[in-house]
Amino acid sequence: MMRIDIATLFVEMCETVCGESIIGRARRGGYLDIRCHQIRRYTTDKHSRVDDTPYGGGMGMLMQADPIYRCYEAVTRGLEKKPYVIYLSPQGQVFNQKKAVELSRMDHLFLICGHYEGVDQRLLDEIVDEEISIGDYVLTGGELGALVVMDAVARLCGNVLADEVCFTDESHFSGLLEYPQYTKPSVWHGREVPEVLVSGHHKKIQEWQHRKALENTWRKRPDLLEAYPLSDQDRLFLSELEKQN
Ligand code: SAM
Repeated sequence: MMRIDIATLFVEMCETVCGESIIGRARRGGYLDIRCHQIRRYTTDKHSRVDDTPYGGGMGMLMQADPIYRCYEAVTRGLEKKPYVIYLSPQGQVFNQKKAVELSRMDHLFLICGHYEGVDQRLLDEIVDEEISIGDYVLTGGELGALVVMDAVARLCGNVLADEVCFTDESHFSGLLEYPQYTKPSVWHGREVPEVLVSGHHKKIQEWQHRKALENTWRKRPDLLEAYPLSDQDRLFLSELEKQN
């Protein structure tokens, strides 16, 4: 079972997200072990301070190394294998589905949420294996980042979703965006569900879905096609699309 520890100053925020919907259900069902830790509990300061001014001056406060380190030590005490430690940071590699798949193959992640101006570099040098960003913008804290990583990784773990097909068919997994999908009623506001989807012809449905996935990717994220192993048939289909548009 995948274990994810989240070190944060905002445990309630993390617990709320980790307790809802599919992740909450998997947690309660014993398929995911997610634990949120209050970094403040690990400070030795009598006012529970976890931050201080940066050496050399500059704006704002910095999270101190020791409370996070002590939290990490408490979590890993007695464990045979050290978790893979990730610091959520706007300076990290930008997170994507490939990284989510890679992380989902690990047994144990320890996610560190920074706050204020960030974290004392010595803590990062001491325990962090990788910095991950959730995009090229700056957030007030690492919690949203940690929750994004947790969610994307956790749903790839066994028994969290009903079936593997739930994610192998999805956008980004195969390298393409997903095809458009429809549900009941079959006509809505005069718009009909594509005929092939109600034909019951499995092979034709699959071909249609693949072509639509190619088309969706071509229209919305053509950059993804550069890395996708296109077949001769795919190339023909795309060149037809180009001629028509
Ligand atoms: N001073 C830092 C810098 O310029 O790199 C930014 C600190 S930011 C205001 C506070 C915290 O939010 C960071 O320590 C990090 O944990 C989190 N954070 C901010 N932007 C993020 C992003 N794009 N991805 C992941 N975490 C982020």
